[in-house]
Amino acid sequence: MYKAYKFRMYPNDEQTNLIHKTFGCYRFIYNYFLNKCVEHKIMKVFDMCKELKEMYIDYPWLKEVDSCSLRCAIFNLEDAYQNYFSKRNKYPIFKNRFSRQSYRTNCIRSSYKGKEYSNIELDLKERKIKLPKLGLVNIRGYRNLEVINGKIVNATVIRETTGKYYVSVVVDEIEVKKEEVVPKKIIGIDLGVKDLVITSDGEKYSNQKVLEKHEKRLKRIQRKLSRQIKGSNNYLKTKNKLSRLYSKIKNTRKYYMNEIINKLTRENDIIVSEKLDIKEMSKNHHLSKSILDASFHQICLLLKWKVKQLGKYYYQVDTYYPSSKTCNRCENKTEITNRLEIREWECERCGMRHDRDINASMNIMFEGLKMHYSIVNI
Ligand SMILES: [Zn+2]
Repeated sequence: MYKAYKFRMYPNDEQTNLIHKTFGCYRFIYNYFLNKCVEHKIMKVFDMCKELKEMYIDYPWLKEVDSCSLRCAIFNLEDAYQNYFSKRNKYPIFKNRFSRQSYRTNCIRSSYKGKEYSNIELDLKERKIKLPKLGLVNIRGYRNLEVINGKIVNATVIRETTGKYYVSVVVDEIEVKKEEVVPKKIIGIDLGVKDLVITSDGEKYSNQKVLEKHEKRLKRIQRKLSRQIKGSNNYLKTKNKLSRLYSKIKNTRKYYMNEIINKLTRENDIIVSEKLDIKEMSKNHHLSKSILDASFHQICLLLKWKVKQLGKYYYQVDTYYPSSKTCNRCENKTEITNRLEIREWECERCGMRHDRDINASMNIMFEGLKMHYSIVNI
């Protein structure tokens, strides 16, 4: 199972210089071959790698940087074409130096006199990473992690538009077989706008209004940016401010979501949520809505992963299941809740008073329970 760990990286001046050189060379190789593919015909990876070897003569400065990263630029271009052919993405475009910069390098292992060597190594105790040509670079992140059980596959060095450096390390983790838990407690969750998560236990995790708090500022900066001349110094400054704000919003949300998920998975054995319609989501261009959708999606992914690690269960109920229309006591279907502003309602048949979201999450829980036992009984 592949897993990525993203660390903040603190390179010294010399390392920073070399990182920027590598970005440049990576971009150069990518654009060089993309240009050839556009003007002549799409090349095979093998041919591009062969040509790369010969390019060192005409472009001797390529030797200064990690050679493996240059091959990765070719693989990267190949991936971009594959994504284009399978209609996952648009036609590959040329890389420029104004956007987020990154380069990937693969982990190469060798052994000598019974000792194993690797060009990428993580030292979580000393909080350093060894990278080709760069040597040891200081990193921060994952304070509670002592060792990673698995082999490093590759590393991507990133400079965000905020000016911060990161390294994302992909590890082929050894799956630790967790004994399956005998479920004792089940919980259903509903995802919402006002409250991010509403549980069938009646708990609500408010949305903290992270976005609302920052939205005014976000809009102001966006307006400012649209008035400035593209590429000018002030434009770049504003763009920088904007990306800092984006990452702040993102990080706050991520931290908050993790907190909720840790609590839910610690206290429960079966967790049920609704399945999200990804296609429907990507059509939405409204900013705050799209960020919200992204966090719903992230919650589901995190839950899936966390539950698997703990040997517990996670089920997703069909999107079209009428969770907010059904009375969880008598299963009567109501039309009252069609109006979104109705937060509380009374069942016409049994007279039970419901909180809209808690009722929905209870229905989701019952559906999940059915799913669990229909799977277990087979
Ligand atoms: Zn009822």
